[in-house]
Amino acid sequence: MSATFLGMPGNFPKNASQAVQNSQLRYNLRKATHTIRGKRAGVVAELPDWQELRAAGKAIKDHTLRNLDRYLVMMEEAVTSAGGTVHWARDAAEANRIVAGLVQATGEREVVKVKSMATQEIGLNEALAEQGIAAYETDLAELIVQLGDDFPSHILVPAIHRNRSEIREIFLDKMPEVPENLTDDPPALTEAARLHLRERFLRSKVAISGANFMVAETGTLVVLESEGNGRMCLTLPETLISVVGIEKLLPSWRDLEVFLQLLPRSSTGERMNPYTSMWTGAVEGQDFHLVLLDNGRTDVLADEVGRQALRCIRCSACLNVCPVYERVGGHAYGSVYPGPIGAILTPQLRGMSSELDASLPFASSLCGACYDVCPVAIDIPEVLVDLRSKAPHPAAERAGMKVAGWILNDHVRLAKAQRAATRLRGLLPKRLPGPASAWTDTRDLPEIPDESFRDWWERGGPDERA
Ligand code: SF4
Repeated sequence: MSATFLGMPGNFPKNASQAVQNSQLRYNLRKATHTIRGKRAGVVAELPDWQELRAAGKAIKDHTLRNLDRYLVMMEEAVTSAGGTVHWARDAAEANRIVAGLVQATGEREVVKVKSMATQEIGLNEALAEQGIAAYETDLAELIVQLGDDFPSHILVPAIHRNRSEIREIFLDKMPEVPENLTDDPPALTEAARLHLRERFLRSKVAISGANFMVAETGTLVVLESEGNGRMCLTLPETLISVVGIEKLLPSWRDLEVFLQLLPRSSTGERMNPYTSMWTGAVEGQDFHLVLLDNGRTDVLADEVGRQALRCIRCSACLNVCPVYERVGGHAYGSVYPGPIGAILTPQLRGMSSELDASLPFASSLCGACYDVCPVAIDIPEVLVDLRSKAPHPAAERAGMKVAGWILNDHVRLAKAQRAATRLRGLLPKRLPGPASAWTDTRDLPEIPDESFRDWWERGGPDERA
């Protein structure tokens, strides 16, 4: 990929140009995203009221976000009265400190984890490792990523960039208990992971989770999953710590009904996910701590255009239809949130001071496929365009846009500029010079006509042609 946008900051195009050279990666991504998107389209088409459900999901999320202060307090009261303890974390460092302190208080040195984007966002595993605490991922795809010393590249399928023979190699290398004749058959790989994880589930006294939803009226947390590994973590250990972004709230159980239809169909392409775990406060024999995580979310909430990103339910449907994601994969985005949602969420959560984060709003063709499939109707292209206007641009580009704005704002100035361009058309280069040459590497400069539309019209326009 060349730098196709004038002034586009550097890192995403650099990452993407490396990623597209990897034909195995492109093959794996294409196969996986097309399979999931086909399944999604099938189950969504079954529901005649899908658009109404989508509108309801959007309305519920918007209402909750507008009243977040009230619902957060309601959530805290409900969890506390059900025997749980609520902690508030302003940022990643505070959340990590709280979780590490809670684990240390148990005297344990290892924890099992339910798949959680929020804990990846704050770098919890690394922070715990610094305190001498080992965190073991138990979601199969997260386990593959962790054992491979790799990074997740998809929200739902973090190891989407790996095929089964690569997974077999990782298991043989990192799991001492697997037999040497392990095949790359999915059931054989799953059985190897099952045996590896079973021992951890039975041994661990502390578990860490996120949550897909929190129901404010009862203080209930909800985790949707496909494997049942999450449920093992949620039920077996003596201490459960859940780190959840404050935007995951829903006011009531009735609202949950909408999202339990929207999420499985949009994510795995299933009518219903195999395991839905719900718990309220501390259950018998288990300590429960809820860490409510801000980490930039209240800043996002303050932005009139960008706040819609907080409606996201992390289904990953936008990744599976994105032509950019399909070709470059998740690592190019340099964030736990890849694809279209990552391109609007990461720069808002982290700011755009780094070259990578400033380049993310440009990692899109603005085709709009992400908006069409989003179950909570996030207008991702709208947020991308808004963020592009806020991203830092080179001084030369800013000056050029200022001049263009000055000319286009006045019809007399525009007419003069057009006449001047017509007179000079023979002198204009076919390629732009300097850094702007990236623009003409992949496209021709438009030809300037020998007469502007305006002049042709003044000469009589259509009558003259007749
Ligand atoms: S932006 Fe929409 S489509 Fe993308 S992950 Fe979030 S909810 Fe799903």
